[in-house]
Amino acid sequence: MNSCGFSKNRLLELHFNEGSGRDRQTARDHVAHCSQCRDYMATLDQTNQSLQAWPREEPAPDSWEKVLFQLPALEEERDESKPVLSVFPVVLIGLSALACLGFIFLLDNVLDFIPLWQSLKSSVVGDVLGSYGLTALLFFLVGTLITLSMSPVIILEGDRQDLFVPNKQ
Ligand SMILES: [Zn+2]
Repeated sequence: MNSCGFSKNRLLELHFNEGSGRDRQTARDHVAHCSQCRDYMATLDQTNQSLQAWPREEPAPDSWEKVLFQLPALEEERDESKPVLSVFPVVLIGLSALACLGFIFLLDNVLDFIPLWQSLKSSVVGDVLGSYGLTALLFFLVGTLITLSMSPVIILEGDRQDLFVPNKQ
């Protein structure tokens, strides 16, 4: 460890031939009789020599062609992923529609046990829509209410995503 308290900045100024002439002379005088600072100056010299010995690398002449060759491959990959992304939601919509119909069917059986439902069915609305129509109406009415009650959450989530978009870039 370097226990010498002499300023490293002064030594750097001496190395890079910066600062005032008087400061450089002071540093030179100090280095002359301080082995620790002499070692430090030697390290700076070695580092500088290594950096200058580093060969300057030129890009290969066919670098641009290699980059261009990679571009169509990237586009093909993107095209392949498109059908997967577009088919998946359609399947999901189909499945959820089937789930809705199944649920309406089950709900209709359950609601038959409620006396109020029996009287609703025998009313004018029940005559027009039928048993399943009435159940579907109730199902979508409840669904709409649930969606409306969730909309503040959805809006808040949307806002939060907007806030995070600039951070991702
Ligand atoms: Zn010193």
